[in-house]
Amino acid sequence: MSDYPHTYYSRTACDATAYPALTADCDVDVCVVGAGLAGLTAARELAMRGQSVAVLDANRVGWGASGRNGGQVSSGFAADDDAVLKQVGQAHFDALYRLSIEGMEMVRDACRRLGAGAGGLTPGILKVLRYDDPAGLAAHRDRMAAYGRRFTLLNRDDVRAQVNSPAYGPGLFDADAFHIHPLNYTRALAADAAARGVAVYEKSRVTRIAPVQGRHRLTANRTTIRARHVVMATGGYTDALVPALRRAMLPIATYMLATGPLGARIGDAIDTTAAIIDDRRAGNYYRVLDGDRIVWGSGISVRRSPPPQLADRLKHELQGVFPQLGDVSVDMAWSGLMSYARHRMPQVGQLAPGLWYCTAFGGQGLNTTAIAGRVVAEAITGETDRIAAFAPFGLTWAGGVLGRAAAQATYWGYQVGDRWRERMRPV
Ligand SMILES: Cc1cc2nc3c(=O)[nH]c(=O)nc-3n(C[C@H](O)[C@H](O)[C@H](O)COP(=O)(O)OP(=O)(O)OC[C@H]3O[C@@H](n4cnc5c(N)ncnc54)[C@H](O)[C@@H]3O)c2cc1C
Repeated sequence: MSDYPHTYYSRTACDATAYPALTADCDVDVCVVGAGLAGLTAARELAMRGQSVAVLDANRVGWGASGRNGGQVSSGFAADDDAVLKQVGQAHFDALYRLSIEGMEMVRDACRRLGAGAGGLTPGILKVLRYDDPAGLAAHRDRMAAYGRRFTLLNRDDVRAQVNSPAYGPGLFDADAFHIHPLNYTRALAADAAARGVAVYEKSRVTRIAPVQGRHRLTANRTTIRARHVVMATGGYTDALVPALRRAMLPIATYMLATGPLGARIGDAIDTTAAIIDDRRAGNYYRVLDGDRIVWGSGISVRRSPPPQLADRLKHELQGVFPQLGDVSVDMAWSGLMSYARHRMPQVGQLAPGLWYCTAFGGQGLNTTAIAGRVVAEAITGETDRIAAFAPFGLTWAGGVLGRAAAQATYWGYQVGDRWRERMRPV
């Protein structure tokens, strides 16, 4: 696994299958660019519908965000519910939210079908507030009940019995959500797609796409693939291959750390197998793995490369939340890039005849890549037009360098807002 970034997941990956690089010309119905969760789900769904499919990745299967994330799978989108509701109205919002739940259920179903090595699904996500607002949580619980989602309201003491931090107030337990080993899951999807006839190619960067006589000609490793349809699923690693996609996305980094084994000390801090997420914008998301190790996620930034002293910074943050742990050893820290649109909703649609895009899943990518991959497959095969649900969220210009500066400023603004709210309503 040496071609993967050094993460907890690459170190604990349960198989090391390598796929070949593209070296011979070929002809397929659909060529998918990008072997992350979006591309692989689309490929698998297309193969299930009888299409001949090739998937190409510039690196390895799951090398991008899909293989190095927090593994938390729930419903919803990266955009604020209220903003989406305001834009599209209640009926459309309901349809979108139900798609997001279907995405979550797709991941659950695939984990079950693909066997023990496919992600090691562990149930439950606990969302905790860093300020006191049980009424707001109850309102959210009631709103989600309309979609059949079961959230349990926990008071501060209930929360602290499971996650013993002076920073935390009340919370919501989401019994239907779950967490997985994202690299194992992504690789299991690739293996299943390959078993269904999908040609998976690694180390095959697509450098050119050109329309030729009603088809598309793609070039990778000086080799040609001809395809009736192309699905672009290049996430936060989108390059200038299709300029309209590059212009419409902001690559945003987020960071993770895996502690060394904490032994019995872990029980002083976390006593749940559920994953945990706090309510701050770009706050902390984490879980206990291997019984006594914390895999901790945090923050966002427009920097493409990890900041200096990343491990120390994340460790300091973790110790701030759980001071009783004292010093903790760090095994590794890493970063990954997510793709955000300005509207923060996924971008899923058709740019030109036969040229599809499936990207911009932001920090809520595990359920949304699944449903996006499915609706793209349905659209290509003419099975449904469910892809139209994403039409209001197009390829709007992300603002280039100014857009990145604005995103960073917005994040800093959120941080100030978070601190203010916590000061006004202490836990
Ligand atoms: C650290 C981190 C933590 C996260 N935590 C969570 C979480 O807990 N829950 C959640 O729901 N979401 C989470 N996310 C978000 C989620 O991981 C992403 O939204 C999702 O994985 C995006 O998948 P993707 O397939 O669109 O992109 P990626 O997985 O990034 O895949 C894109 C692929 O495209 C390839 N590529 C790019 N250009 C080319 C080219 N020209 N030719 C060939 N291949 C190319 C790249 O090599 C890459 O493998 C997190 C993200 C990060 C980075």
